[in-house]
Amino acid sequence: MKLSIGWLYPNLMSTYGDRGNVICLQQRCQWRDMEVEIVPLQRETAIAEFKRVDLIVGGGAQDRQQEIVMRDLRGAKADALRTMLEANTPGVFTCGSPQLLGHYYEPALGQRIEGLGLLDLVSKHPGINAKRCIGNLVFEIAASPLAEELQAMLGEKPIAIGFENHGGRTYLNSVQPLGKVVSGLGNNGEDGWEGAFYGNAIATYAHGPLLPKNPFIADWLIKKALQRKYQTEINLIKLPDTLAYEARKAMLQRLNLAKIS
Ligand code: GLN
Repeated sequence: MKLSIGWLYPNLMSTYGDRGNVICLQQRCQWRDMEVEIVPLQRETAIAEFKRVDLIVGGGAQDRQQEIVMRDLRGAKADALRTMLEANTPGVFTCGSPQLLGHYYEPALGQRIEGLGLLDLVSKHPGINAKRCIGNLVFEIAASPLAEELQAMLGEKPIAIGFENHGGRTYLNSVQPLGKVVSGLGNNGEDGWEGAFYGNAIATYAHGPLLPKNPFIADWLIKKALQRKYQTEINLIKLPDTLAYEARKAMLQRLNLAKIS
C-alpha cells in the first residue's frame, strides 16, 4: 500500500514545528511496511499534484507568510482543496492553516485577508498589544463521528495534548468544534472550544506537534486515507508507542489532570 501526503507550503508554513506531523505520519506508515510519498504543495506546484494526494498536512505560519499563502491559494488551488475536503480527504491543519481555510483573517497589522471560505469560521488578531495565546493545551475531542471513532480505537475518551502559540482568535459559525478545552485557551479563550472538524479534516491550534503527542490521531488519519483510497476496511497493526504515552502521562500530571481519562 502507498500513501501520498500533501504538505502545504513547507517553506512558508513550518514556523512552529508542525513538520513533525508529516514525519510522524510517514514513520508510522513505514513501520507498517507501507510506501510513503511526501508531495510539497506550494507556489510552483501544478493543480494536478494537489488533486492526487491522499492526505493533506498544513502547518502554522507567521502572519506575513500566511498572507503570501492565502493569496497564492486563491482560484484553482482553492477549488481543488474545496473539492478534496468536501470529498472527505483526511487532513490535519494547524493554527495558521485553519485561519486561512476560514472566511478571513484579520492580522495584527494591516488589512483583513480573505480566506478560502472552506471552513465556516473567522479569525481575528486583536492587535500587537494583545497577549498571544501561548502554553500547553489539553482538550477533549468532541466532534462527531471523530470522537466516537477515536473512543472505539482507544477504549477511553479521546484527550488531545498540544502546545498553542497564536495571536489570532478563531470564532466558529456553523462548523463543528474539534473539541472542548480542558486546559489552555483554544480558539479564542472565551467560548471554551478548540479547533474545528469538517469532513475528515482536523483543524486545530495544537502544535506540539499534534500527531507525535497523540499517535491515535495519526492512525485515524492514516486509516481514513487508506480506506478512501483502496475502498476497503483497513486494520492497522498496533504500534507500541510507550514513550509517547509516558510523555502524555507526564504532561497530564504536570497540569494536575492525571485523573482525566
Ligand atoms: N499567524 C497566526 C497567529 O499568530 C498563526 C500563528 C501560528 O500558526 N502559530 O495567530
